[in-house]
Amino acid sequence: MAATLTSIEPATGETLWTGEPGDVDAAVAAARAAWSGWAARSFAFRVETLRRFANTVRGKLEPFADLIARETGKPLWEARTEVEAVVNKVDISVSAYADRTAQRRLEGAMGARVAVRHKPHGVLAVLGPYNFPAHLPNGHIVPALLAGNAILFKPSEKTPAVGDYLCKLYHEAGVPEAVVGCVQGGPDTGRALAGHAGLDGLLFTGSARAGLALGKQFAETPHKILALEMGGNNPLVVWNARDIHAAAAIAVQSAYLSAGQRCTAARRLIVEDGKHEELVATIVKLIDRLIIDHPHASPAPFMGPVIDNGSADRLQEAFLDLMGKGGRAIRRLDRKADDRPFLTPALIDVTDVARRPDAELFGPVLQLIRVPDFDAALAEANATRYGLAASLVGGSPELYDRFWANIRAGVVNWNKPTNGAPSNAPFGGIGLSGNHRPSAYYAADYCAYPVTSSEAETPRATIGVGLADPAAASAENLEG
Ligand code: NAD
Repeated sequence: MAATLTSIEPATGETLWTGEPGDVDAAVAAARAAWSGWAARSFAFRVETLRRFANTVRGKLEPFADLIARETGKPLWEARTEVEAVVNKVDISVSAYADRTAQRRLEGAMGARVAVRHKPHGVLAVLGPYNFPAHLPNGHIVPALLAGNAILFKPSEKTPAVGDYLCKLYHEAGVPEAVVGCVQGGPDTGRALAGHAGLDGLLFTGSARAGLALGKQFAETPHKILALEMGGNNPLVVWNARDIHAAAAIAVQSAYLSAGQRCTAARRLIVEDGKHEELVATIVKLIDRLIIDHPHASPAPFMGPVIDNGSADRLQEAFLDLMGKGGRAIRRLDRKADDRPFLTPALIDVTDVARRPDAELFGPVLQLIRVPDFDAALAEANATRYGLAASLVGGSPELYDRFWANIRAGVVNWNKPTNGAPSNAPFGGIGLSGNHRPSAYYAADYCAYPVTSSEAETPRATIGVGLADPAAASAENLEG
């Protein structure tokens, strides 16, 4: 008998959901049987169905946001923005489909007609993370459904209730149950799905650790699509910033929104040594004012807890490790209560830490690094195997040009936080942050493959070169 899955509300410790892991073989068989029917529907039908899904979600904004807030611990105001992103994904994906994968007609040789059209892959698995348990899987599912694929969605084992609710909303809107199947479970279920012969591809958002494991698993099936959206160790460089208050606010938003549980969160704050004191003091003043509380608390909190006690423990260990290696805590990573994962936002000067670990600390920890000049700031910013997001705050247009040209990341911002990327643009990273299959607006690209057709109403052909003269050929035959 498979183990029961349990979802615990991080803010209260109460059990929110229990269930059994899904049956992978049965789910794949059902999706395989269903997908060709869905693919045979017109694009207009699929758009209409997904617009109905958007309306269904809009009608459930409050209960859906409430569930996301309870299961992740993020503030209710933030959970509402996640539900809005789920709704908006439909129109964005319809435009993206038309832009990236619409049918095109080209001129062929000798008046031939050439058509470029796209076909769905078939059955795709979607593995979701816990930090945006609705918006991020939905960012794969909606474009994949529009393109005509069937989906097997495995929510994070930390957010099964939101995954279950999301699937029911597709079904309520008229997407057949076997076209969006929900398969609950943890990494074992993810591995079983990934290795299943009946799968045509997998769309993943999560950690680099899991993404690398999936890359290995797919190494012998290069014909299957694998899209990996992974983590980051994102730098925020503040240089010659005239408005220190705005720079500090951008740093705080970048590092601590969602309790630092965003793939695009700033992990490293890089500043000019000797000119950084006022900025750091202003950031500290803001940190000390941030409200950390239950998702539904009033006044509304800036951030809630991290996802669970295990994550909070690991973050605190990593923080102590940095201190043991020579880091100087400016604000410590403290636990507000021993039994719940509420952490206070931490700021630690790691300039003197030799061999800083290039790890994604997925929580409210910002590492300060002081450097002598802008070249050193660029080198420090690029000193990571990841390459997701990077921001420059301050400087001139010329300095931003230098930053943009030299920084290695898929999201490069100026005077804006590292996080909160627009949904109507491509989103992805380089290095350990992805496998060059950017999501958001470019998700359409990995949800369908192009087919080129040269077409004519009637066959018309002659062989112009390399044929022997017919008379000579028959003489040869006689002699033979
Ligand atoms: P995770 O990698 O632990 O889990 C993600 C999903 O993969 C879950 O459904 C999990 O069950 C499954 N999984 C884990 N190991 C697996 C394996 N070996 N084989 C198959 N499936 C496996 O990630 P998480 O902790 O839920 O989410 C946080 C991570 O996600 C962070 O690293 C964050 O940066 C990243 N993230 C990236 C993006 C992006 O768009 N680039 C967005 C959000 C989060």
